[in-house]
Amino acid sequence: MATRLPEAPKVGMVSLGCPKNLVDSERILTKLRSDGYGLSPDYAGADVVLVNTCGFLDSAKEESLEAIGEAIAENGRVIVTGCMGDEAAAIRARFPNVLAITGAHQYESVVEAVHEAAPPIPSPFVDLVPEAGLKLTPRHYSYLKISEGCNHRCSFCIIPSIRGDLASRRPDAILREAEKLVAAGTRELLVISQDTSAYGIDIRDQPRLWKGEEVRPHMTDLARELGKLGTPDQPVWVRLHYVYPYPHVEQVIPLMAQGLVVPYLDIPFQHASPKVLRTMKRPANDAKVLERLRGWRAICPDIAIRSSFVVGFPGETEEDFQYLLDWLDEAQLDRVGAFRFEPVEGAAANTLPDPVPEEVKEERYTRLMEKTAAISAAKLQAKVGRTIPVIIDDVDAEGGATGRSQADAPGIDGEVFLRDSGHLAQGDIVPVLVEDADEHDLYGVPVSR
Ligand code: SF4
Repeated sequence: MATRLPEAPKVGMVSLGCPKNLVDSERILTKLRSDGYGLSPDYAGADVVLVNTCGFLDSAKEESLEAIGEAIAENGRVIVTGCMGDEAAAIRARFPNVLAITGAHQYESVVEAVHEAAPPIPSPFVDLVPEAGLKLTPRHYSYLKISEGCNHRCSFCIIPSIRGDLASRRPDAILREAEKLVAAGTRELLVISQDTSAYGIDIRDQPRLWKGEEVRPHMTDLARELGKLGTPDQPVWVRLHYVYPYPHVEQVIPLMAQGLVVPYLDIPFQHASPKVLRTMKRPANDAKVLERLRGWRAICPDIAIRSSFVVGFPGETEEDFQYLLDWLDEAQLDRVGAFRFEPVEGAAANTLPDPVPEEVKEERYTRLMEKTAAISAAKLQAKVGRTIPVIIDDVDAEGGATGRSQADAPGIDGEVFLRDSGHLAQGDIVPVLVEDADEHDLYGVPVSR
């Protein structure tokens, strides 16, 4: 008679915040799965619910508290983790029944808390996790976290106080994880950290062996080795996020021209006015940035630069803002996101004088978005008539598909809408003739090689 396995306890997960938090959720779930837990897609079926919170902005904290409240109302057995876990007193004051609270990256403590709340049923028959670990993102792209923490002290940010100074992962461990992800079907690796260009400076004297060769803990070496995980038949896109425009970034641009790394850089400039950047205490805050952008484009003309900006930072004058708009005219960035300044509890910027009134923030935000939408529309229009590689995210029942060009990261940039593409599958990378464009998206049709 076959052995009947007892039903495994089930865990529900609510993951809030940035892609880095999503990676943490995946790690926690991977560990719990390997401990024999099942996953519940809803509150009702869960023996315990984990809420992985974000505490970056006050609005994110409020969203986290709401999510905790909902999980308590729907299920009652709730464990809180993530950035807001560092504010246990505030959470307990509002939700005294929370079972446990742990901070960001305390994987062991979260797992322990789950073990206590819903003890696992050990069984030699329970499969270990699939090779790529449990993923909350679609199977064809994966976030790859290369370090924790940050050595900078930007005045509006509390991440260093929550996550500590830079702690880089060993390059061989990152490459092994990436190799597993690719073997399990990942076609796009999204490299993330607080400051990707700073990767390895804390372990710079510790090169590691990877496939018989020495690999330095350095962004260039790591990007090159990640790029080699693809083959001509099975390309793998490597996309670099959160890069600062330091001089050494120039070394990765030739890798883009060679096709090893996607010609895309996500650089959070936040502002352009030297005065505002100084009060923000931003890294790589020098006048040479525009010159650097020109140099990169000379090596790799197709490079897409994405950035985000804060408007209404304390002390930002109309002159500073106009400087930013003029700078954007020069910089011709491909993708831009903007935020109205919001004070975050514990950030140094909160004590800065001359706050900008809300209506002025709003007005500047609108002007910035209008400017960047016009630049984006012109850049996308220039792609009409070209054939470009597109990765497929979804294929619909009507024979259409949605994908992304190399200039589009998932969830934050534009999309490519395809006709006559019912034969494609998620994760395919195909040549597409661009037929039309608007402010943010492209429209096209797949072509045979
Ligand atoms: S670079 Fe600045 S904004 Fe980014 S995590 Fe570090 S301190 Fe925060």
